[in-house]
Amino acid sequence: MMAVRGSRLPAMSQSVPSLEALNALPRVQQPSYPDPQATGEVIEQLRALPPLVFAGECDDLRAHLAAVANREAFLLQGGDCAETFAGVNAANIKGKLRVLLSMAVVMTYAGQLPVVKVGRIAGQYAKPRSKDTETRRGLTLPSYRGDAVNGFEFTPEARVHDPKRLVGVYNASAATLNLVRAFATGGFADLRGIHAWNADFVRNSNVEARYEALASEIERALVFMMACGVEDDQLSTVDFYASHEALLLDYEHAMTRIDSRSQLPYDCSGHLLWIGERTRQLDGAHVEFLRHVRNPLGIKLGPTTTEEDAVAIADSLDPDHEPGRLTFITRMGSKAVRTNLPKVIEAVETTGRKVVWSCDPMHGNTFETDNGYKTRSFADVCDEVNGFFDVHEELGTWPGGVHIELTGDDVTECLGGIDMLAEADLANRYETACDPRLNRNQSLELAFMIAERLAD
Ligand code: PEP
Ligand code: MN
Repeated sequence: MMAVRGSRLPAMSQSVPSLEALNALPRVQQPSYPDPQATGEVIEQLRALPPLVFAGECDDLRAHLAAVANREAFLLQGGDCAETFAGVNAANIKGKLRVLLSMAVVMTYAGQLPVVKVGRIAGQYAKPRSKDTETRRGLTLPSYRGDAVNGFEFTPEARVHDPKRLVGVYNASAATLNLVRAFATGGFADLRGIHAWNADFVRNSNVEARYEALASEIERALVFMMACGVEDDQLSTVDFYASHEALLLDYEHAMTRIDSRSQLPYDCSGHLLWIGERTRQLDGAHVEFLRHVRNPLGIKLGPTTTEEDAVAIADSLDPDHEPGRLTFITRMGSKAVRTNLPKVIEAVETTGRKVVWSCDPMHGNTFETDNGYKTRSFADVCDEVNGFFDVHEELGTWPGGVHIELTGDDVTECLGGIDMLAEADLANRYETACDPRLNRNQSLELAFMIAERLAD
């Protein structure tokens, strides 16, 4: 057996609690399956399947995140609010990767530091909902909880909670990861093809021109390096990691495997798992489960988070003060970020541990328009990111990263940005299965803004 890479074993080496033990704890946002036997069979089927990611990859990501926590790198995490089974196709996956790589290159070049790239991808199929039911024209049905649980279509049949969908999540995640791995190492991510990432988009905007100018600059630098004889794999491949919200306890528990090298448990459904704002109760099943797996963990922190909440959750999930173990993803909203974030950061920093501070400028800034669309304003998104950078600057702490809902397509889901999308435009291409995402131009524009803050 190989030794654990790095060093000493963490104290946290007890085994993962059984699913029965977890189910006996307070647990929220779980499906209610009609047939326990069918559910049990699906869980057993998943337990027998190969892991989707490897423990060593999770360790590598933890090491990269430790570098972020140590001010040596920046984290870019992004992707759909909710992936869908129908969205598992090459064009869609390639589009998301392309926008994330373009954003990362902008930030790396301007910020002159490595960017750790993590997709909300290959597993982001389950959604917490604020209401259990939804009513339309007098008909009340269970809410859509993501393709992992039920169908989006508003019919009684589609909205039934079906455990067989968990096998669909596994298959969709495997197919997505396979292509992501091929794109990351098979030539697509080669920096020398940086212009091509955007080739099939109409070059009609300011942000596009800015990107092209930067790409040309990078290309010239690369030609220079090659002329000097520098040839490095680092230029032709990228490290790209998969993450999702660890919401469905049945699925996450069934995907947990013991690493043959260290005998420690990893949730092999994704590299980084995060706990959502609605499921981070200290005495709840989600925290209890994730405490026991070795993956790097994210925790969403909303505007009502107290200092005590943040410290208690850090103590529970990171008793060993291990750099890179925890990423606090703060989503305070543009109005609250400047007032509520500082005390939370100060309290956690006082414990002496090194965490990644990442800003989710999406979930605190959602509202509904008069014409019935759930949306976000690009200005609010930028305002929260700027507030996040300002707060860290004042405290002398490191604004480690961002967490963005985005897509590679030219959708019309968020207002504003370079194309000045208005409420009336939302109907054109409103395609999200859940929350509104930044489109490609809005994502690139945000990347340039972040790059400027990093370069300050
Ligand atoms: C999400 O990330 O899609 C989400 C539901 O976030 P939060 O838990 O922060 O509300
Ligand atoms: Mn969302």
